Amino acid sequence: MKVELLAPAGDLEKLKTAVLYGADAVYMGGTSFSLRAKAKNFDEEQMKEGIDFAHSHGVKVYITCNIYAHNEDIDKVGDYLVSLEKLGADAVLISDLGVFAIAREVVPNLEIHISTQANNTNYRSAKFWLDNGAKRIVMARELSVKEIKELHNRVPEAEIESFVHGAMCISYSGRCLLSNYLTGRDANAGACSHPCRWEYFVSEKTRPGEYMPIVEEERGTYIFNSKDLCMIEHIPELIDAGVYSFKLEGRMKTPFYVATVTSAYRKAIDDYLEDPQKYESNKQSYVEAVSKASYRGFTTGFYYGKPTDEDQVYTTSAYIRNYDFVGLVKKCEDGFITVEQRNKFSVGDDVEIIQPSGNVLKMTINEMYDEEGDRIESAPHAQQSVKIKIENTVEYFSMIRREAE
Ligand code: SF4
Repeated sequence: MKVELLAPAGDLEKLKTAVLYGADAVYMGGTSFSLRAKAKNFDEEQMKEGIDFAHSHGVKVYITCNIYAHNEDIDKVGDYLVSLEKLGADAVLISDLGVFAIAREVVPNLEIHISTQANNTNYRSAKFWLDNGAKRIVMARELSVKEIKELHNRVPEAEIESFVHGAMCISYSGRCLLSNYLTGRDANAGACSHPCRWEYFVSEKTRPGEYMPIVEEERGTYIFNSKDLCMIEHIPELIDAGVYSFKLEGRMKTPFYVATVTSAYRKAIDDYLEDPQKYESNKQSYVEAVSKASYRGFTTGFYYGKPTDEDQVYTTSAYIRNYDFVGLVKKCEDGFITVEQRNKFSVGDDVEIIQPSGNVLKMTINEMYDEEGDRIESAPHAQQSVKIKIENTVEYFSMIRREAE
């Protein structure tokens, strides 16, 4: 049995991270027609480099083209889709019917995945998309495991992709005007300013400047603030329901986040496919592994019924951050690792090194040198290159993390 682990690639570094840490496929946006406009996204040259890198590791690349197009976009979409096919994209993600129709005309051999933005909630719409040439359907996040299973049984030829980890919109699968209304930035054109994470007060018209708190059970005022989705403990149920592609959210997250979450799901999926009993006994360790990236508390979303107040965070919109990402390993030779600094670290710090193979090393930093070869006590400068003495061999692109204070 084969399932796919699909990881986010917000820029070239994150793409390489996802590929090296075990993704079977990555998804990314171009500079046009993609949601997540604030993710750095790829121009044509970077896209080519990213696609070539992924393909050289046997990893597929899907490109998002999932805006709801306006008339002014229509003339440009065709050329864009043709250019994606030429660059070697393995599929495009589409939500708009007009864009879908153009894709079928101009790139009939390019695989189409129907984006979650299209709100795929039933087997008839899945069948419609398939009959008209789509290959894969990304499930709406509002579906339960039971509904996905029924959809799979009724349209078994549909490849099913489902979000399994990451931030959740409080709105109906991206159909949200909060950002547009409050900041003029269109969430459905990829420019969401995330007002669902803000803290709200009530203001009365004749008392400008006086803010009356909205308090639910004295816990706080983050009334739209969902916990993050985490399905790492439910992989067997999803496979049984027919999910083929396990999608991780997070094109705007850091490379450290991508490495941590991709690596944890890789291990969980591989363990399950190798031996379900091994997966069952290791479940707690998978949750601990994903918790080393920042998160807002975990929920299973709609998979087991409608979310309740337990699936919201009322007290803060801040992330839980148990570990800080302090450096990226660029080289390992002659008993030293060359590390690009990402957060200040010092001699004496106890750190963990997460490696692309999934192995984690623990060590104390005892000896450190700057680029001139002078011994130093700490690495305070962003992107500073330092050498750390080490007893083991460490894999290229490993990430060093330190427990947060
Ligand atoms: S404001 Fe929040 S709920 Fe609305 S689209 Fe943006 S992230 Fe989603």
